[in-house]
Amino acid sequence: MTYQPSNDRYQHMQYRRCGNSGLKLSAFSLGLWHNFGYTDLFENSRAIIHTAFDHGITHFDLANNYGPPPGAAEEHFGKILSNDLAAYRDELIISTKAGYTMWEGPYGDWGSKKYLVASLNQSLERLGLEYVDIFYHHRPDPETPLEETMQALDLIVRQGKALYAGISNYRPEQAAKAIQILRELGTPCVIHQPKYSMFERWVEDGLLDLLGKEGVGCIPFSPLAQGLLTDKYLDGIPTDSRVARSGVFLKESHITPEKVAKVRQLNELAQRRGQRLSHMALAWILRDSRVTSVLIGASKPAQVTDSIAALQHTSFTDEELAAINRILAG
Ligand code: NDP
Repeated sequence: MTYQPSNDRYQHMQYRRCGNSGLKLSAFSLGLWHNFGYTDLFENSRAIIHTAFDHGITHFDLANNYGPPPGAAEEHFGKILSNDLAAYRDELIISTKAGYTMWEGPYGDWGSKKYLVASLNQSLERLGLEYVDIFYHHRPDPETPLEETMQALDLIVRQGKALYAGISNYRPEQAAKAIQILRELGTPCVIHQPKYSMFERWVEDGLLDLLGKEGVGCIPFSPLAQGLLTDKYLDGIPTDSRVARSGVFLKESHITPEKVAKVRQLNELAQRRGQRLSHMALAWILRDSRVTSVLIGASKPAQVTDSIAALQHTSFTDEELAAINRILAG
């Protein structure tokens, strides 16, 4: 089957500026952490990418270790790119990262220049690309000097192997230092990728303020708390859910009666807004103008279109925001 993207793919998506940079990202970005490994159906992975691009998603987020096994998601995305999207490379923002365990020995993990440069070279090979658009340091390294890790990002950008540099999972103080070092090196930090959802709000404690002040974009990951912030776990664990199929990062033990009770109340609130819970959870992230894009995952093409529909209603009254806070605090 030859893939032909939809002609009206740019009609319904919003594009938001990434901090003070020249880069705009689709309000939704698609992450390939799950559902792109050897254990997943390749044709389903391919259909997810097609659906995303057909609906205006231009940004695809990867990491060296996404799979399983590590590397598989980049390999599969590389195949989809060369088969179906080669002619559209200049319409795509492709991101990858290094920072978690990738290979054995002292050079396959954390934040040394040796690891970051070698890992990106391997990622480019798997992706079949000469450059990625954004390269991230995936998590802070408590041992490597921050200067070295940031020099690695600067080097990679100067070599043309990435166009922009980003950081992920850095707490506000670490992020402030990284942003300053990168600025001094002449390669600005364009984006930060933190975990953020109704169930995980640490970014509200200093990080969003910092990013707003410094003009750095923000792309929150796991906005649906891996699927918890939908109606799917209200009546047990469906067999086609992340908990049932993978159960590694989202486990049955996370679906506690207390969590489900909160999800039920949030679901009722969403219904009163005329929205599904997944839409309300995504809209709630997009309400903040310091957020550039929401980084979603999907196990089926229909989840991509479903999530994008959140754009139809992204405003909240003060009463609604207060009600959400009350439910979450309860
Ligand atoms: P989400 O919180 O969006 O969870 C996605 C999962 O929720 C889907 O795979 C699906 O799971 C379920 N889901 C999605 N849409 C719907 C829907 N409309 N209705 C019902 N269920 C739905 O994000 P992820 O946790 O997948 O993370 C997104 C991306 O963020 C990753 O792919 C990765 O790129 C990035 N990330 C970055 C990290 C970092 O350290 N920088 C760490 C983790 C993620 P199912 O159907 O299988 O139940």
